[in-house]
Amino acid sequence: MPPPVLADPRVAALRDDALANDHYAWDVVEGLTTEVGQRLAATEAEARARDWAVRRLTAMGFANVHVEPFTMPVWTRGAEGAEIVAPFPQKLAVAALGYSGSTGPEGITGQIAYFPTVDALRAAPDSAVAGKIVFIDHHMMPAQDGSGYGQFGAPRRQGPTIASLKGAVGIVIRSIGTDHHRNPHTGVQYFTDGAKPIPAGALSVPDAEQLIRILERGKPVTMHLTLVSQKTDGGRSGNVIAEVPGRDPKAPILLIGGHLDSWDLATGAIDDGAGVAITTAAAKHIMDAGRPLRTIRIVWFGAEEPGGFGGKAYAEAHGKEAHAIAGESDFGADRVWRFSSQLKTSDPAAYAQLAASLAPLGITRNDKGDADGTDVEPTIAAGAPWITLNQDGTRYFDWHHTPDDTLDKIDPAQLRQNVAAWTAMLAVLSGGIEPGAKRPKRR
Ligand SMILES: [Zn+2]
Repeated sequence: MPPPVLADPRVAALRDDALANDHYAWDVVEGLTTEVGQRLAATEAEARARDWAVRRLTAMGFANVHVEPFTMPVWTRGAEGAEIVAPFPQKLAVAALGYSGSTGPEGITGQIAYFPTVDALRAAPDSAVAGKIVFIDHHMMPAQDGSGYGQFGAPRRQGPTIASLKGAVGIVIRSIGTDHHRNPHTGVQYFTDGAKPIPAGALSVPDAEQLIRILERGKPVTMHLTLVSQKTDGGRSGNVIAEVPGRDPKAPILLIGGHLDSWDLATGAIDDGAGVAITTAAAKHIMDAGRPLRTIRIVWFGAEEPGGFGGKAYAEAHGKEAHAIAGESDFGADRVWRFSSQLKTSDPAAYAQLAASLAPLGITRNDKGDADGTDVEPTIAAGAPWITLNQDGTRYFDWHHTPDDTLDKIDPAQLRQNVAAWTAMLAVLSGGIEPGAKRPKRR
């Protein structure tokens, strides 16, 4: 029997204080979503969000607050609509997917070519698709670990390219979502393999089901589809960075964060205002307690949604610096239910301390977990050890990338549990926190 591992009482005290009293996370996500709103990557809204972030992080007392800019293509949404022309004329709820081609304001009209899965589309002869509007169905179910997203995201990520290469004039998919609201779920896709961009949209889940019932009547179905959008090069985005300086500037740092940008359909409260709020609040609790040995670096990554541009820019600038850990919060605001980390093999003592410190929050260890997170993946690929704090994803895909991603979906008690978990993680890996001269708590 290995000796029992007990959580360090100082870590436990910080954790329990955050669990009971944290208000920083709510203040950040409430402020960001109210005072900025939607933050589509590389638009002026995201630029306003960066300004907001610099002001807030400075006011909270963090050091080295600055923006690291980068450029990228910017895609913006215009007018959109989908209408069945025949046999049963009616409107359907649709939203363009990121980097969709544009129909122009006049729209396009085509017969629907139905495929139950992306693989059925892949297997179809070009003649079944050419000149038509492809429709791909699928059935994503809710799951605590959100595991359906990888598999059922394929119609969104690969469908438009396959449809284009087979000569389709457009594509609509059933939203990658687990709800039954008339809210389409947007999300990114890319045209690859030389495919020319075609209009690509997502129908809300009830509208996709309606279209299936119409198709089941056995008559040809004609749709008029309007998806106006614009793509231009030279858009500007950036990462906002702030630090809690460590006592040893040479010690490998703790990298945490989330992404500042959001889709344009809502205020991005769960994706990912919550993530930047949770990680920032946790760092603030450590700073309030004193000075950690290791520097804590918070990054509010820019332009995650259209393809992880901020994460790549960070790794290019900082991937060679020594990181003791890299982790991000980007799966909503519901409670953390398990964690995993590379430290299991590289630093078993720290891993045992993490397990003991997180267990009272109802967080189990997942010894078989993997690195996760678009923004930290490039830095992990450059050698940083990883940690993943998995949030409960059962409700996440009801709202993800829809007009329903708003502040009211955040449960303050579960948000505090997240902050407590990240605070405990930082405290365990901080190298020890020395009480500093008592400084007034700000904001
Ligand atoms: Zn996200």
